[in-house]
Amino acid sequence: MHSVEQVPKLTVIAPATGQLIAEIEETRIHEVPLFYQRGRNAFAAWSCISIPDRLRYFRKLKQLMVDEMDQIARIISDDTGKVLTEAIVADIMPTLDAIDHIIRHAEKVLSRQKAKTPFLLIGKKSYIEYMSRGVVLVISPWNYPLQLAMVPMVSALAGGNSVILKPSEVTPLVGKCIEDLFNRSGFPEGTVQVAHGGKEVGAAFTEGKPDYIFFTGSVRTGKIIQQQAARDLIPTTLELGGKDPMIVFKDANLERAAKAAAWGAFTNSGQVCMSAERLYVERSISDEFLELLKSEVRNLTQGSDENADVGSMTFPAQKDIVKAQLEEALARGAKLETGLEPVNWQEGMFLPLTVVTHVEQDMKIIQEETFGPLLPVVHFDTEDEAVTLANGTVFGLNASVWTKDKEKARRVASRLVSGAVVINDVIITVANHGLPFGGTKDSGIGRYHAEGGLRIFCHEKAIMEDLGLMNSEIQWYPYKGKYPLFLKLFKNYFGEKRNWLSFAKDYLALLKIK
Ligand code: ADP
Repeated sequence: MHSVEQVPKLTVIAPATGQLIAEIEETRIHEVPLFYQRGRNAFAAWSCISIPDRLRYFRKLKQLMVDEMDQIARIISDDTGKVLTEAIVADIMPTLDAIDHIIRHAEKVLSRQKAKTPFLLIGKKSYIEYMSRGVVLVISPWNYPLQLAMVPMVSALAGGNSVILKPSEVTPLVGKCIEDLFNRSGFPEGTVQVAHGGKEVGAAFTEGKPDYIFFTGSVRTGKIIQQQAARDLIPTTLELGGKDPMIVFKDANLERAAKAAAWGAFTNSGQVCMSAERLYVERSISDEFLELLKSEVRNLTQGSDENADVGSMTFPAQKDIVKAQLEEALARGAKLETGLEPVNWQEGMFLPLTVVTHVEQDMKIIQEETFGPLLPVVHFDTEDEAVTLANGTVFGLNASVWTKDKEKARRVASRLVSGAVVINDVIITVANHGLPFGGTKDSGIGRYHAEGGLRIFCHEKAIMEDLGLMNSEIQWYPYKGKYPLFLKLFKNYFGEKRNWLSFAKDYLALLKIK
C-alpha cells in the first residue's frame, strides 16, 4: 500500500465574516532547495535580458492588474477585512504606481553611470555598473499584503534578479493572487516563485542562502532574520514597525488636522506601520481639538460594505495586543474619549474606534506598536517638549507636523528622528514612489522606493578603464628614487596653493623612473 502524503493547508478565514473562504496548499520544507535551484536557473537567463525586455513583462503585469482591479480589490478585502476603498487606494494604487515608476525610470537608474576620475589618476575613465545579485527572498506581512510584497518584488526583478516571495500566512489568498498575476503575465518560469506557509517556511527560506533578503514585518522577526543573514553575510533590508507621532500646534488648520488624525489613526483599522499612532496637541487648543476629533470619529461607519469607512481587524492575535495596551492605560488613569472598555467589546474582528486622553509617555500605548484602532492623545506646551516626546520611543518610521508656520514646520521636521516626515498631512510620503521609504532606530534598516530602491537589489560595481598604452604607472615598482618626488608632488597637490608647473615636472620625473 502507498501512503499518500498529506499536504498541509493554510485555511483562509475572512476576518470580517468569520467564514472559511479558501484553503491553500503549503510549501513543504523539503521543497526549499528546489525553489532555490529553479530560482538560480531562471536568474541565469533573466539577468542577461536587457532592461527594456524585462519591462515588457512589467507592462503585461500592469495591464492585467488594471483589467482585474475590482477582482483584486475584493480578494484583498475578503482576506484582510479592510474596506474596498482602502484595498484599491492603499494597496493596489501604490503597487501600480511603483510598476509605472519602474517602467519609466529603471533603465536610466540601472544603466552604467559615469563617475568622476581625480586628476591624480590622469588618463583613466571611471564608471559604476549595477550587477544583478541573484535570488532575492521577499518576506511580506498581512496589513498591506499586495503592495508590501509586490513593490520589493518588482524592484528586484527590474534589476535582473529572480524572486521568491513568502507572503504572510495570515493573508494567503493575496499571496495566491500575486502568484497568479505573475504567472499570467508570462514571466519566464522560475523568475517569480511564491512559497506559501508560516514562519517555519519563512525561516527555512531564510536559511536557504538567498542573495538578498527583503523583509517587512515585526521588529521581533526582523531581528531573527538579521541574525540568520549575518551568519551567511546576506545583505538585507528590514522594514519594521512604527509608532508615528502627529504633532498639532495651536496655529494649525484644526479642522483639517482633526480629519487627518481620525483617518491617520483608523485607516486600515489602525493596522498600519506608518499611521497616526500618538497625537501630541498644544495645550491651549487641546479641548477644542479633542471635540473636533471626537465628532470626526463619531461620524465614521464600520463594516464591510462598499460605503463603510473602517473595516475589521485582520489578525485575531492582534486584538489581544490592542486590548492589553488599552487595559494598562485605563488601569493607570487614562480616560476613554470614544470607544468602549475592553470588557464591553463585542465578539468578532471589529474593534471600537478608541481615543484616549490622560496618557503618560511611559505607557505601552505610547511606547509599543499597537496595530489597532487606538489613538492616545497627549498635551505639550513648547516646541522642544513636542520634539522630545515625539522622539521618545524606539521607533522612527514616519511623523507629521501641523502648523501654518512654514519655518516652524520645517524646523521641527528636521529635528524628528524619523525616516519620513509629513507637514500638514499624514502618511502620504509612502505614496510618492520617488521618495525613499524606510525607518530609523527599531523601524528598520535600509530604504526602498526611488532610485535607491532599485539599486539595493544590485551589486554596485566600480569600473576603471585605462587604454593600456603606457608600459608602467608611477606608483608601480621600482620605488628607487620615488619617495622624495612623491613627497613633493603630494605636498604641492594637496597644499593650499597648488603649483601646476611644479606638479607637471615632478609627475614627469616620476614617469621617467623605470
Ligand atoms: P506580523 O506580525 O506583521 O505578521 P511577522 O514578523 O510575524 O509580523 O511576520 C511577517 C512575515 O514574516 C510573515 O510572512 C511571517 O510568516 C514571516 N516570519 C515570521 N517569523 C519568521 C521567521 N522566524 N523567519 C522567517 N520569516 C518569518
